[in-house]
Amino acid sequence: MTVATPKSLRRAIADFPDPETGRGLEAMGQILDAVVDEHDARVTVGLTTHSLPIAEEVLQAIVDRIAATHPGLVVHADVAPHPRPPARLGQVGLRIKSVVLVGSGKGGVGKSTVAAGVALSLRRLGARVGLMDADVYGPSIPQLLGLEGRPEINAQKKIEPIRLGDDFPVMSMGFLIEKDQAVIWRGPMLHGSITQFLGDTQWGELDYLIIDMPPGTGDVALTLSQAIPIAGAIVVCTPQEVALLDAIKAVSMFRKVGIPILGMVENMSGFLCPDSGKTYDIFGRGGTRDKAGELQVPFLGTLPIDIALRVAGDEGRLAELIEQDERARAPLDGIARALVRGLAGQAQATPSRPQLPTL
Ligand code: ADP
Repeated sequence: MTVATPKSLRRAIADFPDPETGRGLEAMGQILDAVVDEHDARVTVGLTTHSLPIAEEVLQAIVDRIAATHPGLVVHADVAPHPRPPARLGQVGLRIKSVVLVGSGKGGVGKSTVAAGVALSLRRLGARVGLMDADVYGPSIPQLLGLEGRPEINAQKKIEPIRLGDDFPVMSMGFLIEKDQAVIWRGPMLHGSITQFLGDTQWGELDYLIIDMPPGTGDVALTLSQAIPIAGAIVVCTPQEVALLDAIKAVSMFRKVGIPILGMVENMSGFLCPDSGKTYDIFGRGGTRDKAGELQVPFLGTLPIDIALRVAGDEGRLAELIEQDERARAPLDGIARALVRGLAGQAQATPSRPQLPTL
């Protein structure tokens, strides 16, 4: 048993990994305060907005860690903001910490709903987030979020994204083409437009850029991965076996172009009955979890069929729904947290080198 002193508290958590960088809290200057008062101890830990979605569980783990070496001590842990600007990323030099692709094997499985929902959850949980709709064949993000308008070119010759509120930049081909206008892209044009979309948009400083990918083939994923380091991909599928086969193709496609799989999500997993709040099994459930196990990729969670989600998407009120309806947002929050947890695991496995802030 250790006698509790501020020093002993610090020692207990010195090598606790910062979720963003995977490096010890002490070395990163993130143990901001440690005080002991008889049987009580309080530590204040600095976390970046990148880690805020999992702040609660990080604090709990810190409390447990201190309690384990100081039996009988009542431990509290608080979080305080810890600024750490993103380094410039890739040849396009974006100031984004984690670029996450959301893909699927085929269309209509709710990929865009999951991409937008997870982005909105991350934002609600404290992170700085942007959303890029790279599904050039069927851009549905503007519709889901009720956004319209033409992006303008600003004084720095960058494309100003359309913003939801003033803190959530969104870019989509849907802002550039007329509604219902079919876009026939040929390869080079598609590659050019995707890279331009990514690199020429004034995203600002972001923790997460969520990219809604076109379903199926790997060329857009390849183009993106050549322009910017990708943290990884989420693959969305439905419980039906056919959709799962498509999902397996999506997983191997991302693997082929060297993009790590952050996990699989099962959408339309049971039916959330609006009257009872119970979830009923319609197409079968859980197939994705098993498949993820077989493929040795993480399983990030399920999203039930929720009529409120479909209606809000049709009416362009997905953001309002997630803000107001706890039942609708709970599964998306769960997926968002699982994603951040997965990235923290990745960072811990390969801690980033200490970095001087870029000016
Ligand atoms: P994709 O991007 O895979 O083509 P979308 O996200 O556009 O799919 O979803 C297709 C349709 O299904 C949309 O009308 C959307 O509102 C609806 N939808 C998606 N997920 C759910 C869900 N979990 N519950 C209810 N409706 C959903």
